[in-house]
Amino acid sequence: MAAQTDSNILIIGAGTWGCSVALKLTRCGHTNIKVLGGSSFPSAISAGNDLNKIGEEANEPSQYDPMMTTSGIVDNAYQRCVEYAEGEDVQLVALKTKEDFQKTMPEGVLQGDFPGWQGFWKQAGAGWVFASGTLKAMHAGAVELRVQLVTGDREGRVETLLYSNSKAVVGARTADGNQLRPTARALAHIPLSEKEAALYKNLPVLYGVDRDFFIEPDAAKHRMKLCDEHPGYIDPVIENGKFCSVPFARHQIPVEAEARMRLLLRETMSQLAEREFSFARMCWDADTVDRRFLIDKHSDIENLIVAVGGSGNEFMICPAIGVLVADILEPKGEIEERIKMMLRWRPETAVGRDWWHSQGRYGADGKVMDLRDVKEWTKTGLSRSSTGPE
Ligand SMILES: Cc1cc2nc3c(=O)[nH]c(=O)nc-3n(C[C@H](O)[C@H](O)[C@H](O)COP(=O)(O)OP(=O)(O)OC[C@H]3O[C@@H](n4cnc5c(N)ncnc54)[C@H](O)[C@@H]3O)c2cc1C
Repeated sequence: MAAQTDSNILIIGAGTWGCSVALKLTRCGHTNIKVLGGSSFPSAISAGNDLNKIGEEANEPSQYDPMMTTSGIVDNAYQRCVEYAEGEDVQLVALKTKEDFQKTMPEGVLQGDFPGWQGFWKQAGAGWVFASGTLKAMHAGAVELRVQLVTGDREGRVETLLYSNSKAVVGARTADGNQLRPTARALAHIPLSEKEAALYKNLPVLYGVDRDFFIEPDAAKHRMKLCDEHPGYIDPVIENGKFCSVPFARHQIPVEAEARMRLLLRETMSQLAEREFSFARMCWDADTVDRRFLIDKHSDIENLIVAVGGSGNEFMICPAIGVLVADILEPKGEIEERIKMMLRWRPETAVGRDWWHSQGRYGADGKVMDLRDVKEWTKTGLSRSSTGPE
């Protein structure tokens, strides 16, 4: 890509994609890049500001290699897994019995009975990514290359976009639309002792398609992450006569989500089922209708590029986001036509959108849940709770 020095670029959101895009653009020679973030970095509501995330390699070598385990994924929800296994290039190991599951990890880690579980073990090309470390590294790289990061509730929080008469963006205050559905899931950490953390090192990610999942403890603080897996919670609001879901930050989780996490633990790691959580929070994603990313020029606003959305798998591809945005910024646009079509601005897909669609996700009751129906929240992290429905 040709170097440019006269750019004037505003990026909204100092999270996973915002930092990736800022870093890539500045490495490509763009200057005058400013990133606005609605809270101090790293943001407590950034989905990427998380201990770790699942990552899977495509057929080409992954850019995550230094941060990815070489272990695999154990999976259940059998039918979905069979289809998944059939589509894989590599041979997956079928898991049918409790002993099959237990053999995927060191002795003593999986002490549960795995009632009714069946699945597959992907031994290569999948694992996890050190998410908050990646986020901080991208941020530090961008700052070093003179990207200006303005973060904070007042200075960095965008409320709307400001336009010139010719429909160009000249400033910012927030965009909205039916193409995205903010959908939340619960995260929690279980503290482990140093000895336990040593035993639980290099584990495959255990991902229950119709349960929850856990990822091995981090090396520094020995916290094991649990994530509540299901079609998601939304926070329905009618704004200007239109239905939408409005995300909020909260360092507590629904008691029902904790119960699901404990069920996973009882079935798989029963020795940890009653241990107190040391951290919990709601984590928001922006689901598109077809679960594909949305990375394109806005159809009406000439100098606005939108890079958002997907459904639960946007962290692992974050290094590629900056590349795609940089290509879109090129006058001739260098993105392959096939990819361009897939990522395009596509409001037509959201006409009459079913906000309660489960989008091929399982877990809980298999339905999208309404946060207004949540009656009880955990006490974990109460002192750190932020705005949101009580
Ligand atoms: C529970 C959960 C589990 C997930 N697991 C995985 C996984 O295993 N693997 C995977 O690849 N992906 C996973 N994802 C998806 C992935 O983490 C996210 O989709 C990805 O991090 C999104 O990046 P982003 O930059 O769009 O958003 P974020 O990283 O959330 O960043 C958004 C940023 O925008 C800022 N912001 C918000 N509003 C404003 C405003 N008005 N003005 C200025 N700034 C604002 C926020 O403060 C934040 O910093 C998961 C997501 C969730 C919720």
